[in-house]
Amino acid sequence: MQLELSAEDAAFRDEMRAFFTTQVPEDIRETVLAGRHLTRDQIVASQQTLNAAGLAVPHWPEEWGGRGWTDLQRHLWHEEMQRAGVPAPLAFNASMIGPVLAQFGSQEQKERFLPATANLDIWWAQGFSEPDAGSDLAGLRTTAVRDGDDWVVNGQKTWTTLGQYGDWIFTLVRTDPDVKKQAGISMLLIDMTLDGVEVRPIELIDGTHEVNEVWFDDVRVPGDMLVGDLNAGWTIAKFLLGNERVGVAPVGATKRALATLKDNAGDLLDDPLTRARVAEIENELLALELTALRVVAHSSNGEPHPASSVLKLKGSELQQAVSELALDLAGPAALASGAADDSSLPGWARRSAPIYLNLRKASIYGGSNEIQRQIIARTILGL
Ligand SMILES: Cc1cc2nc3c(=O)[nH]c(=O)nc-3n(C[C@H](O)[C@H](O)[C@H](O)COP(=O)(O)OP(=O)(O)OC[C@H]3O[C@@H](n4cnc5c(N)ncnc54)[C@H](O)[C@@H]3O)c2cc1C
Repeated sequence: MQLELSAEDAAFRDEMRAFFTTQVPEDIRETVLAGRHLTRDQIVASQQTLNAAGLAVPHWPEEWGGRGWTDLQRHLWHEEMQRAGVPAPLAFNASMIGPVLAQFGSQEQKERFLPATANLDIWWAQGFSEPDAGSDLAGLRTTAVRDGDDWVVNGQKTWTTLGQYGDWIFTLVRTDPDVKKQAGISMLLIDMTLDGVEVRPIELIDGTHEVNEVWFDDVRVPGDMLVGDLNAGWTIAKFLLGNERVGVAPVGATKRALATLKDNAGDLLDDPLTRARVAEIENELLALELTALRVVAHSSNGEPHPASSVLKLKGSELQQAVSELALDLAGPAALASGAADDSSLPGWARRSAPIYLNLRKASIYGGSNEIQRQIIARTILGL
């Protein structure tokens, strides 16, 4: 494969770099670069800046705001965004429900939801997982029963990321309990302000509020909020989860985190063992970047290459390795995560423990790393 960028692609990369580093508000990029949490308004403002320039949903069909870029251009867009500390467009909107509606939605659903989804005027949440339906997603129990024109929904979703900001939630619901479990599932769009929807926070180990439980108690959902055919939810879910794994290796973000760590660490980097650790992570990141480019070169029609599982696996491991190195370098200062801003301990050291703890999630969500290993064993190694 040719790894050198063509003059045209290099110009494209420079164009992206210039946009991201000059047009997205600096307070937002600084927040990301410092590893602090963004507010809802910052996430919305950033996506709206991208959308106004046609850079929020370049992978969508052109009719709905897509750009018709090559896979390599999309990769460069994504990498430069991460490198500049620009938050990626909200995945639930841009990578999950948007492409699903463009592919399976009714014309009314497309017109009503797609422009608002691209511009983050509607904040979507993902309501797939349930207490006994994570890796075994087809085991889900939330039911939707037809009653006149409506669906009546009952059940519980869990781990709903940023569901506290959600306007709408796209869900998988059981619409036929009497068939093979994959065959009785449908996708339903639910307005989260409807009576009977309740969002309950789950407190995380790093002390933040990022995920939630969402309960449905006799929620009446209009019949036209079904996506695609009745009981076709499993096919739609597979399409959505395939998209979810594209762009999963946060190479740009991890490189940036490591570069920031090196800047912050100062004299601590004089220790040969630390230097060796940094060098090892840098080498593995380079290998991952080359793998990501190889995957881009081999995916066709936006279908994810099976090696995207390697990206998810290795990408999350390296993300965690950098956070672990930061924690070790911070030493006892890592315990001071609750200290106020006027603390004499450096901010990066105080934030190292919450970031380390928060990133434990990376090997679970988006398909756990054990499941990725199984996909690699089956589809790549043929075991
Ligand atoms: C921070 C976070 C955010 C999330 N956000 C969302 C969200 O917004 N919306 C949503 O719908 N879901 C979300 N999820 C849910 C996520 O998709 C599931 O947690 C994930 O699919 C794993 O399912 P589970 O937690 O039920 O674990 P289980 O499936 O119960 O797995 C438990 C352990 O067993 C392993 N395991 C399971 N099956 C196998 C197997 N066949 N072979 C080998 N090992 C196996 C798993 O890898 C894991 O280590 C989120 C999860 C996290 C942690």
